[in-house]
Amino acid sequence: MPTAMEIYKLLPKKNCGECKFPTCLAFAMQLANQKVALEACPYVSPEAKAALEESGAPPIRLMTFGTGDMAVKVGDETQLFRHDKTFYNPTVIGLIADDSSGSQGIKDGVALVKSLSFERVGQNIRVNSIAIRHSTGDPKEFLEGVKHASSEGLPMVLMTEDPGLMGETSVAWPKRPLLYRATPANFDAMIEVAKRSSCPLVIGGAATLDELSQLSERAKKAGVTDLVLEPVQGTCAQLLESMTVVRRAAVKKHFRPLGYPTISVLGSSDLDKGRATIGVAKYSSIVLMDELSRGFVFPLMVLRQNIFTDPQVPIQVKPGLYKVGEPNEKSPVMFTTNFSLTYFTVRADIEKSKMPAWLLVIDTEGQSVMTAFAAGKLTPESVTEAIEKEKVKDVSKRNEIVIPGMVSRMSGKLNELSGMKVIVGSRESSGIPKMIKSFSG
Ligand code: SF4
Repeated sequence: MPTAMEIYKLLPKKNCGECKFPTCLAFAMQLANQKVALEACPYVSPEAKAALEESGAPPIRLMTFGTGDMAVKVGDETQLFRHDKTFYNPTVIGLIADDSSGSQGIKDGVALVKSLSFERVGQNIRVNSIAIRHSTGDPKEFLEGVKHASSEGLPMVLMTEDPGLMGETSVAWPKRPLLYRATPANFDAMIEVAKRSSCPLVIGGAATLDELSQLSERAKKAGVTDLVLEPVQGTCAQLLESMTVVRRAAVKKHFRPLGYPTISVLGSSDLDKGRATIGVAKYSSIVLMDELSRGFVFPLMVLRQNIFTDPQVPIQVKPGLYKVGEPNEKSPVMFTTNFSLTYFTVRADIEKSKMPAWLLVIDTEGQSVMTAFAAGKLTPESVTEAIEKEKVKDVSKRNEIVIPGMVSRMSGKLNELSGMKVIVGSRESSGIPKMIKSFSG
């Protein structure tokens, strides 16, 4: 975002007050702090507006492909390091289905992508995209592949460097596919396809980042701004270097020609798995692979989830009284905090025991048991308050509560305040299955 003085220089300086601020400088200061919109001034010239929008744009352009609920967003990142603030748009992971695998191969690929989804700490994480690659040399095969895949609604990447074929298959395109790719060899013709279709376009095949930035500038001058860059990938080290240089140039130097999302197109070898992992960790906005086995892609998605959660906001579940299984009035009551990872770990360990139970989740602002206890957010008072609020004594007639072993120190006071018998449970959640079996249901 430009400074107040930079904005002020571009304003009309009429000091008319129509923007509800007495002077243009006051308005510029509010604009710099993103408290008002530029539209509040009716006298800004089109040139000044364009200049301000350009300088106020995020360092990495936001781009979407696909439509509806399944559309994916990439780019719009502002940080080099996640711990400085947060990363916003998780790397899109996709499977490449080759048209040489025939209709059944494409259908199998789509079915695989749809099956690669699971829930972790209350969030659904999944593989997001399918790419159809032309390799047979037969346009009909590519068209058929695109038709089969597009009916499923997944965000799609269309992979052919033949601009004529890309354009011809547009009758079968799903909404807003990502076109892969414009290279120095087909540049102008592929730019025309992207322009005609208003679809985002990958630019790649450049030998250096300098050449890649020149190509992105040419695309922008031609009116195509929804771009994805494919820097030179090579080895793991080269991928890491090129992705880091692109991110650094965009975020730290505000170098617009490299301020776009990035893509890594990989095979299925162990080296490719290493490169995919680096891509997720370091700045690939999209990672496409020839093969996605569950054993590889599930940990990759967990890595992605960890990197793209806001480090300043713990993932939380709603405080309350939860059923694990089908508990009744003889079932035990346990408590934990509303830090998602703690809640889901404890819940999974109770489920392992096959014993139904009541799980009371205390609001600790997303902190884990020990952190919340040390910070005074998990106290006998707060637990007693939750017991009363959730009417725990009405649902379980045992008049007992099992507390985490790590907070055994609160047992006396909790007994006194709640009137319930306090049982000190295991120190680790993994001890719950053994401990809970001592309760008769
Ligand atoms: Fe200045 Fe525009 Fe506000 Fe008038 S409306 S004071 S010209 S910024």
